[in-house]
Amino acid sequence: MQYEKATVQDMREVLAKGDSSAIDLLKEAKRVIAEKDGEVKAFVEVFDSAEEDAKRADTMLKEGRAMPLTGIPIAIKDNICIAGNTVTAASKMLEGFVSPYDATVTARLRAQGAVLVGRTNLDEFAMGSSTERSVYGTTYNPHDTERVSGGSSGGSAAAVAMGAVPLALGSDTGGSIRQPASFCGIVGLKPTYGALSRHGLIALGSSLDVIGPLARTADDAKLLFEVLQGEEGQYDSTVEIFAGIGQKNNTEKIIGVPDAVTTVGISQETLDAFNATLERLKGKGYTVREVSLPIMEKAGAIYYIIQPAEASSNLARFDGVRYGYHKDGKEVWGDYVQTRSSGFGEEVSRRIVVGSYVLSAGYYDAYYKKAVAARDAMRQAFLKELQEVSILVMPTTPDIAFKEGAIQDPIAMYAEDRLTLQANLTGLPAISIPMAVEGLPRGMQVIGDYNSEETLFACAKDIEQS
Ligand code: GLN
Repeated sequence: MQYEKATVQDMREVLAKGDSSAIDLLKEAKRVIAEKDGEVKAFVEVFDSAEEDAKRADTMLKEGRAMPLTGIPIAIKDNICIAGNTVTAASKMLEGFVSPYDATVTARLRAQGAVLVGRTNLDEFAMGSSTERSVYGTTYNPHDTERVSGGSSGGSAAAVAMGAVPLALGSDTGGSIRQPASFCGIVGLKPTYGALSRHGLIALGSSLDVIGPLARTADDAKLLFEVLQGEEGQYDSTVEIFAGIGQKNNTEKIIGVPDAVTTVGISQETLDAFNATLERLKGKGYTVREVSLPIMEKAGAIYYIIQPAEASSNLARFDGVRYGYHKDGKEVWGDYVQTRSSGFGEEVSRRIVVGSYVLSAGYYDAYYKKAVAARDAMRQAFLKELQEVSILVMPTTPDIAFKEGAIQDPIAMYAEDRLTLQANLTGLPAISIPMAVEGLPRGMQVIGDYNSEETLFACAKDIEQS
């Protein structure tokens, strides 16, 4: 077994046979990190506690108590809490902050006997599409280290793509799992809103945020997704969306391609790869139809009101008193001003200002309320099309990973998400899966009805096999 290329299934087999131990796999993970992460910079910390995790996993294996992820190395985005470990959201604001509790997802991974290898880099508070805006610096693309890994879960995507771990957790508010998965040539799932717990995820936009898996294969992503599912008792943040008109998992294999795909400025190379992938899917029994979804183009205008509005509320708790960083401003108001002005980076500050503005008494109706109505119209439009077709497909990103520093204008950076925001605004599940191409990776995005992850994984597998 070559560790860097091995799937979770491969690892489970060697563990079950006793050919390798969880400690051996952790050593391999650390070897790859030592060899490659000096350049890629995916990890911001490798946990000392990983050793303990691996020992515990080996005991579980020995005693015949192995579960699907026992002994499997996994990386965690640095905005998901692990009890006793530092969590920073790549912000100065959370400098030195140690989480007092486990996120539900990390508690589930521990219960499985998974080995939590380390925490991975992101754009500050998950605002960004490149993992360049981090207090730790940029995470580079393992396929070409002059280029970005995508964002905001760039560290998790790069950790998987460079072979350090077969699995990682990310979070997706507007594309932050799918876009880096596309740039790094791996699989990334944004689950249905509310399908997985958000307890212990540092909140960005609470009506948009989801935690999800990044993996090298659709099967591995599926396994991680399934292990993390389920109600959680006291802190339940899962919800079940009943669309009423949707069709959930469906085996008809009718693909809808939104007309907007040809009008939103996707590169010719990506369109060529996309069309070639569609042809291959036809060979696997799919039929392809064009569907009309002009409202797709409004996603940026809607998202960049709602998301900053929610972010400005969520980030109000970072006051210099309760968490991490503190700067003295002589009296309490001064403390807030000094701490917040110097603790947040430029983009985070911008969103707090925009969010406070669109929620302010004089502008609430003009901006926030309209955006919420437009979001609802988008949801209806998507659900209507999903009554006619089983899935919607489009490229995940307009083009390949860009070079570090190439996008300076904040609006241009926002435009990078123009194909991924819709799934968050509507709450629909979406998966990014690599298209077979020469050169740098390009992802295909498959969107389905609420709770249709089974269908998405099946289609992703068809794309892999074709
Ligand atoms: N790039 C988008 C933003 O900056 C999405 C981020 C995310 O999904 N966390 O808001």
